[in-house]
Amino acid sequence: MSKQKIAILGAGPSGLAQLRAFEAARRAGVQNLPEIVCFEKQSDIGGMWNYTWRTGLDKNGEPVHGSMYRYLWSNGPKECLEFADYSFDEHFGRAIPSYPPRAVLKDYIMGRIDKQAISKYVRFECPVRWVSHDDRTGKFTVTVMNHKTGEQESDEFDYVVVATGHFSTPNMPYFEGVEQFPGRVLHAHDFRDALEFKDKNVLLVGASYSAEDIGSQCYKYGAKSVTISYRSNPLGFDWPEGMEERPLLAHFDGNTGYFADGSTKEFDAIIMCTGYLFHFPFLPDALRLKTHNCLYPDNLYKGIFYQHNPKMIYLGMQDQYFTFNMFDAQAWYARDVILGKITLPEAEERRQDMAHWLDRHERLGGCCDAIDFQASYIRDLLGPTDYPEFRVEDQAALLKEWQQDKQAGIMNFREQCYRSTVTGTMATRLPASWLEIKDDSLESFMSLDFIENKRFDKVD
Ligand SMILES: Cc1cc2nc3c(=O)[nH]c(=O)nc-3n(C[C@H](O)[C@H](O)[C@H](O)COP(=O)(O)OP(=O)(O)OC[C@H]3O[C@@H](n4cnc5c(N)ncnc54)[C@H](O)[C@@H]3O)c2cc1C
Repeated sequence: MSKQKIAILGAGPSGLAQLRAFEAARRAGVQNLPEIVCFEKQSDIGGMWNYTWRTGLDKNGEPVHGSMYRYLWSNGPKECLEFADYSFDEHFGRAIPSYPPRAVLKDYIMGRIDKQAISKYVRFECPVRWVSHDDRTGKFTVTVMNHKTGEQESDEFDYVVVATGHFSTPNMPYFEGVEQFPGRVLHAHDFRDALEFKDKNVLLVGASYSAEDIGSQCYKYGAKSVTISYRSNPLGFDWPEGMEERPLLAHFDGNTGYFADGSTKEFDAIIMCTGYLFHFPFLPDALRLKTHNCLYPDNLYKGIFYQHNPKMIYLGMQDQYFTFNMFDAQAWYARDVILGKITLPEAEERRQDMAHWLDRHERLGGCCDAIDFQASYIRDLLGPTDYPEFRVEDQAALLKEWQQDKQAGIMNFREQCYRSTVTGTMATRLPASWLEIKDDSLESFMSLDFIENKRFDKVD
């Protein structure tokens, strides 16, 4: 029998999790592993964690994937995204604080990847152009643009794993008068450096993570004022002087913004923190997941297998409290289905399972409920696979603490410390406040004198 062939689309954390899952099986001596090809648009692995100064188009004329910016620090405790098979202790050799900057987290993600071993699977600068499915042969055809050769290429596969992320294509609203606004208007996707807004009055439209974090960045790096405009509910944090929230923006007249409560304010720049679209321009309707950002997209059995064609696999399509270890749990489960260790039930049974989760999803209350929901979703995936235990319920408890810590101090929650559920190690403290530490490079961060938490020793 010929080997099965699998196409993985994207080499960000989700695509890398899938590669790692097969690598773990290879190391465990599993025979007859499928042939894997991973197509990646960028010239390196790491997905969103590859910082790029570019906006708009990349060097090949493809839309820039990256939405991350300079000075971005982890927005949640690192203890809640720790890989169960590769701990922070193993990577750094010592305890570090709970909220590291982007470059530090990227270093960690890359640390468990044997770049040489992986690079034989990844085809860089190969954006996927189209995927089709032949119902007669049961095979997918994947067509990519190989920018290294300047040629389009097509190949056949038994499974397609879509791991292209969903925080890259801006959802850009329109406000009357915005076309005459005299300052810069941009989407969070194109925000790169808070220093650009030093001494400026900045308006952020939206009330989610992007607005909260970009607003805090602008404050930290010297914006004159930061105004966050919300549609339904304010973020509600105790903002420092110079930051405030206002209800929905109605329209602009010149550089003046008019808000739903009748108030007005003049601005120098507008940043639309209005979320992202699920965008799969390379997929026909029959294979394309149609959803918005939520914890349980419909038509994905186990949050992974497309109901209308379960050989079409999606990773990382949920809204994310958990990230890296959730992608791992999904990738291990998908691997075991591909290897025949787990048998997928028939369509009707899959529908019933999804209905159960969707019903629970529908009844979610606040964010604690949402965190528990995602934790039990992950627990459900972990059961049948050999992915190492990482005490997901304990991590859910940390995520709830994180929510409380943010409420207690939006500008200093990143100074809190949590204990690893994987190794038992307590994080060290930052030697200064987050607002004071302005160099976010790996070298600078790792040379800080972290303060030991003497009260909390390592526990078994
Ligand atoms: C501003 C911002 C801050 C964040 N902060 C955090 C944080 O602090 N902690 C955290 O855990 N998570 C954070 N996240 C979430 C982050 O998205 C995930 O951690 C993670 O990167 C998702 O991994 P992914 O592989 O699913 O997607 P991505 O990281 O987006 O990777 C997708 C990959 O697919 C490739 N690709 C896309 N289209 C194609 C195509 N057509 N053909 C070939 N390749 C393609 C891309 O180039 C990319 O490499 C943040 C996200 C954003 C946007």
